[in-house]
Amino acid sequence: MTSVLHLARADIRELQPYQHASWDPALERMHANEMPWRAKPDASAAGLNRYPEPQPRELVARMARLYGVTPEQVLVGRGSDEGIDLLVRAFCRAGSDSVVITPPTFGFYKVAARVQGASVLEVPLCGADFELATQAVIAAGRQAKIVFLCSPNNPTGNLLDDSAMLRILTELDGQAIVCVDEAYIEFADRDSLTTRLKDFGNLVILRTLSKAYALAGARLGTLLANPEIVGLLRRIIPPYAIPTSTIEEVLACTDESQRQTVTERISTLLAEREVMRQRLTRLPHVLRVHCSDANFLLVRFADATQALRAGQMAGLIVRDFSKAPALDGCLRISIGTPDQNQRLMTALERL
Ligand SMILES: *Cc1c(COP(=O)(O)O)cnc(C)c1O
Repeated sequence: MTSVLHLARADIRELQPYQHASWDPALERMHANEMPWRAKPDASAAGLNRYPEPQPRELVARMARLYGVTPEQVLVGRGSDEGIDLLVRAFCRAGSDSVVITPPTFGFYKVAARVQGASVLEVPLCGADFELATQAVIAAGRQAKIVFLCSPNNPTGNLLDDSAMLRILTELDGQAIVCVDEAYIEFADRDSLTTRLKDFGNLVILRTLSKAYALAGARLGTLLANPEIVGLLRRIIPPYAIPTSTIEEVLACTDESQRQTVTERISTLLAEREVMRQRLTRLPHVLRVHCSDANFLLVRFADATQALRAGQMAGLIVRDFSKAPALDGCLRISIGTPDQNQRLMTALERL
């Protein structure tokens, strides 16, 4: 496996990390300028008067188990968004380095790059099925530090081809980071790329609790990569990134006892997605329902504004992508409860 540390910014590689108060639960804390008493309504286990543990061991171990990797391959942060931000900061020099994105895709990659002063090379997905332009991505990747791939892709819903992604990883081995965002992988009929971490030093995988685990409000994302990348990012993540309340809630909500509920809800959602797909396909004013491996459907309407309004009249909001490049007439519908789905379909079927 080829090392990628040489791709990181030299000043970040040499940075002396912030020295946070040492973590030793066996000793009583008089070293972090905290208040010794809890706030009155504070019902947390650890006490909100105390700083949380940086990269909490129990939480890191839980995410490692959940995703089938070792704790050394795990960085937990405030959503995948923090992982994206840290990657761009660690690898891209402002004003000279670039990232590759494959639009139409998740908007935050571009924002994070721009905030860091990195330039953005766009290699659009091809054709009506939004497939990777593999050769063009490899060519652009040779000019860049990070290639962002999103599979299943938001907002189009399709998985990217595994063999194409593996080819990109191989061709860019030692030359660029390939960050595969698997925010929706739990809804897909395909395994995560986590088993390939041992083969590729340049592979970074993003997972999140915001979608399948119903914890968007908790803000917990996990970046999975080889220990040298994780070690580098641990040096620059803000020292107390994960709030105590998030640590405690996430441990409770991802406990083994919750597993069955999570699995059942995913099945219910997938069954609802199929019902919606069939009903939408039958509508004369629907031009196309894109194949989805995620918890949403991208739908092209003859008149997207009219469909959007119909939803709003029924008290429901869907996402308007109709003005975005390559997505004219498209709305993205997040699958809801059976009742919400029924109400939306009734509104659309009346048009
Ligand atoms: C929703 C989503 C995420 C999750 O972001 P969090 O910060 O973890 O909530 C990541 N990537 C994509 C493509 C998404 O759609």
